[in-house]
Amino acid sequence: MSDKLITNWFKMPNSIFSLELDAYQIAVVAYIARHTWGFQEYDTGKKITLDEFEHGRKYSDGSRMDNGVGISRSKLSTVLKTLVELNVLNLETDYSDLARKKHYYSIAIGETAPAENNAPIQDLRTMPYREYLQTDHWQVLRKRMLKRAGYRCQLCNVEGRLHVHHRTYENRGNESYSDLIVLCPNCHAKHHDKI
Ligand SMILES: [Zn+2]
Ligand SMILES: [Zn+2]
Repeated sequence: MSDKLITNWFKMPNSIFSLELDAYQIAVVAYIARHTWGFQEYDTGKKITLDEFEHGRKYSDGSRMDNGVGISRSKLSTVLKTLVELNVLNLETDYSDLARKKHYYSIAIGETAPAENNAPIQDLRTMPYREYLQTDHWQVLRKRMLKRAGYRCQLCNVEGRLHVHHRTYENRGNESYSDLIVLCPNCHAKHHDKI
């Protein structure tokens, strides 16, 4: 058995419960979470084939790790497509072998689970904001936001110097992407004027 699971639990993003996903969608997100975050892999997509979603992930020797999501293949295709459209999942397609396109799915929401050497969420919530901005948690999250925004202001699309602004501090230390917005200095200033 090459079971690489480090713990017998895995993290789920809190935000999936605010998105009003249906049971099929939650089952698929949970399955991907188990096979990525359950292995402490927060940044990478997992190549999970439709067959594996349906019948279980395969070890390299071909045996199955589990029984899959338990949803029929046609339903699965619809659910995956919807989750990608809702920005709950990231989809990367590898076209290097045109005969067999490979799909990689990863979870796009609440991906900010702190690294093990990071401050606990409670500290992240209470430390002075200046100090917070120096943490690994924020530095990683900030870079992800900039990448997601294509290194452009999300209001006026300009490139160059960019700020990552908190739309809400409510989830500080455990932010969802929707809590943040990437702004150029200009839009950032306007944004703060309005408040
Ligand atoms: Zn702007
Ligand atoms: Zn701001």
